[in-house]
Amino acid sequence: MHNRDNLFLEKIMRRECPCYFVSPHLDDAALSAGGLISCLAGKVKLKIITVFTKASAAPYTLSIKKFLNMCGYADAEKFYCSRTAEDARAWSGLGVEFAHLGFIDALWRRKRRQSLFAKFIPEWQYLYPTYRFHVISGKIAEEDFVLKTNITKALEKALSAAGSATIFCPAGFGGHVDHILAREACKDLVSQREAEDKNSEEKFLKVIAVNPSTKTGEPSRKVIFWKDFPYRAGKKETRRFKDCFKGYKEWRWGGGFGKKQELASSYKSQVPQMFPEGRLPEVPEVYYSA
Ligand SMILES: [Zn+2]
Repeated sequence: MHNRDNLFLEKIMRRECPCYFVSPHLDDAALSAGGLISCLAGKVKLKIITVFTKASAAPYTLSIKKFLNMCGYADAEKFYCSRTAEDARAWSGLGVEFAHLGFIDALWRRKRRQSLFAKFIPEWQYLYPTYRFHVISGKIAEEDFVLKTNITKALEKALSAAGSATIFCPAGFGGHVDHILAREACKDLVSQREAEDKNSEEKFLKVIAVNPSTKTGEPSRKVIFWKDFPYRAGKKETRRFKDCFKGYKEWRWGGGFGKKQELASSYKSQVPQMFPEGRLPEVPEVYYSA
């Protein structure tokens, strides 16, 4: 691990700068950033905020049926009940605060106007009718633009008491639309100037070393992106991703793997399907900062 990376985290810990991990789904923060979260737990104020924590009622698309079946469920409501309970157990076990924002998962989001065909083919009702060609296409449906604004508002409310904060969120690797929406909502939480300033890391290190608030008394916010795990991407998507984070500093974090493994095992409805061998592969977490 690079010394500079340690320095970065030490400074966050020393200043007790509150850290918010904005997880698109129940398990993403644990799988992509669980090692870092485990190392920060008990040292700084921490909160995991999960955005998409609900499903909608039947009729379901084939993609939904396949997904539910893979996880051993037939009813989406029961499935989400289990998932939210697993998430609560995981974070409570680590002594970390958490919140569920209650937005509907992409696979279950419906169009505002219903088509006549929807009666016969459920796919016609859905904004993202298939997982492969829509949910992980990287293309946000136009009807979801207002959703991004609503997520930003909900996050703003959740952070309003915090003042200065470090916000961790997905980088959107793999093109899942919910991960991209969470990322864009988090970017909106910081000022445009800060978001566009690719050389602000040095300034941020100085700011949190001296005072977590800016001179004007405005709260200081910084967004750090995690590389989504265990997502994969094709050549085109990998190129798009690299362009998106060009000029950002990439750093890796390998600490806390044992705790991360424990954390991941709490997500019983998800993790065994993703990792049939029953263990997470020991690979470092990847982060990007401007
Ligand atoms: Zn996810």
